[in-house]
Amino acid sequence: MRLLFARAKCVGVAEAWRRQYPRDQQVALSNSTDAVYKALCDLSPADLTPAAVAKIIGNTSWSYYHCAECRSDCERVVSIDDTDTEMMLCPSCCRALAALACADVGA
Ligand SMILES: [Zn+2]
Repeated sequence: MRLLFARAKCVGVAEAWRRQYPRDQQVALSNSTDAVYKALCDLSPADLTPAAVAKIIGNTSWSYYHCAECRSDCERVVSIDDTDTEMMLCPSCCRALAALACADVGA
């Protein structure tokens, strides 16, 4: 298990975006990939937040983690993985999981 933070996921997002879109193209109704790259590069380290990255890109997939149980965008998740799959759970779902695991069900 690992604890992952969305803010750390944002570090290097401009370079990852450039690798994904090495040439300029339109990815949404009006977003040029070069314009997105430039806007990501222009973010100062203090402004490099998941919300700012999501606003520039137009979706949350590059900056937030997504809980496998409740499907919400998350600032932090616990990642449970093996060699083939990775599952991420938000703190709220982790608490529910722990309560379920520890419940006295009379078994
Ligand atoms: Zn959740």
